[in-house]
Amino acid sequence: MSLFSVRLPSEDDTRRETIRKWIADNPDPTGPQLLDAGYMVPHWPRPYGIDADPTTTFIIDEELAKAGIKRPRYRIARDYAGPLILTAGTDEQRERYLRRMLSGEEIWCQLFSEPGAGSDLAAVRTTAVRRGDVYVINGEKTWSSQAHLASHGLLLARTDPDAAKHRGISYFICNMDLPGITTTPILSMEGDHRWNNTYFDDVELPAANLLGQENQGWSLARVTLANERMSQSSTTGLAWGDGPTFDELLRLARMRGGLRDQPEARRRLAQGYVDAEILHVLRMRALSRIQHQDSGDFAPEVRRALADRHGQEMLELFRDLFEESGIVERPQHPAGYDVDWPSFYFFARALDLGGGTSEIQRNVIAQRVLGLPR
Ligand SMILES: Cc1cc2nc3c(=O)[nH]c(=O)nc-3n(C[C@H](O)[C@H](O)[C@H](O)COP(=O)(O)OP(=O)(O)OC[C@H]3O[C@@H](n4cnc5c(N)ncnc54)[C@H](O)[C@@H]3O)c2cc1C
Repeated sequence: MSLFSVRLPSEDDTRRETIRKWIADNPDPTGPQLLDAGYMVPHWPRPYGIDADPTTTFIIDEELAKAGIKRPRYRIARDYAGPLILTAGTDEQRERYLRRMLSGEEIWCQLFSEPGAGSDLAAVRTTAVRRGDVYVINGEKTWSSQAHLASHGLLLARTDPDAAKHRGISYFICNMDLPGITTTPILSMEGDHRWNNTYFDDVELPAANLLGQENQGWSLARVTLANERMSQSSTTGLAWGDGPTFDELLRLARMRGGLRDQPEARRRLAQGYVDAEILHVLRMRALSRIQHQDSGDFAPEVRRALADRHGQEMLELFRDLFEESGIVERPQHPAGYDVDWPSFYFFARALDLGGGTSEIQRNVIAQRVLGLPR
C-alpha cells in the first residue's frame, strides 16, 4: 500500500488561475480583504469561506505562499475559537463573533491554564457559579497569550465542584472588559509583554456566553486542544508554523557563500532539509487522508513533535551562523533579511511547552499511535 496518493491540480488548473488573478489585483491584501475574498478560511462554509475542498484549500495556500502573502495569524481566534463557535455555537454567537475575529477586528485569548492545571488541564479550579442570568467567575489563569490586548477569551471554568474532574467543567466566551478581570504581565526573556496572569474576582459573565452545554466543556476543550496541535504543525514557519521557514534560512546561508568553510553547519543545514521534506510528506499524507475521506488528519502530534524539534534546530543554526550580528545587532540585516529571526530564536524554547508539552505529545503518540498502555 502506498504511503499516500495526492492528486495535485496542474499548473493551468482554473482554480489556480482564479486565485492568481485575485493576487495580481490584490498584491498586498489585508486581513479583511482576504476574508471578503474567502481566502482567509477557504475551507469554511460561506459567508466566511468558500466551502473549498481540501485540494482547493491546498492550492489557495500554495498560490498565496508563492506570491509571498502570509495570512495574518490571529491564531487563537482563527484556529481555536473560530472552528469551535462555528460548530458548537448558537446562531447568535456565530453572527456576533465570527466575522470580527476572522478579520482581526477583535483579538481573542485562551484562558485555560492555571498555576495548578497545565498538562493536567482537567484540574482547573476557576469556578463559575450560576446566579440568575449570569455566571459569577472567580479564579486565576496563567500564560494567557495576548490577554491584555484581547476583547474576548475562551474560558474553562468549573461549574460542578462535586462531579468527577472531567465532568464538572464548562466552556465560556468571556468578555475581557468585564469588571473584576485584571491581567498582570509575564515578560519574555527579551522583555516583551506577550503573556499574562489573568485574575477573576466576582466577575459577572452573562449566561448567554456559555458555549455548548453546562458541564460539557471538557469535550469542547479537547476539540480546541486538537485544533491547537493541528494549527501548530500544518504550515511551514519554524515556530508553530509562524515566522521564518527553512527555505528562508537556506537563502541566508546561500547569501553567506553557501557556508563553504563550515562543514558542520552545512551538515546541519542538510539535515534540516531532510526534516523539512519529511514534514512536507506528512502534511501531504494528512491531505491524502482527508481527500480519501480516511478519518481526517493523521496524528498531528507526530507532525508537531518533528516540527518543534526542526524549528528549534534551525533557529539554533541561525544563531550559530550569525552570532551576535544576528541576535544583538538585529537591525544590521543584509538585503533580503526581512524576518525577525532573533525574536523567533528566543521564542524557540517555548515550542516544547505551549499547547501541550513535548512529553505530553509523546505520551499521546505512545498511547494513540503505538497502542502502548498508559
Ligand atoms: C509560549 C506559551 C504560550 C502559552 N499560551 C497559553 C495560552 O494562551 N493560554 C493558556 O491557557 N495556556 C497557555 N500556555 C500554557 C501551556 O499550555 C502550559 O504551559 C502547558 O500545558 C504545560 O503546563 P505547565 O506549564 O503547567 O507545566 P506542567 O504541567 O506543570 O508540567 C511540568 C513538567 O512536567 C511534565 N509533565 C507533566 N505531566 C506529565 C506526564 N503525565 N507525563 C510526562 N511528563 C509530564 C511536563 O512535560 C513539563 O515538563 C502557554 C505556554 C507557553 C510556554
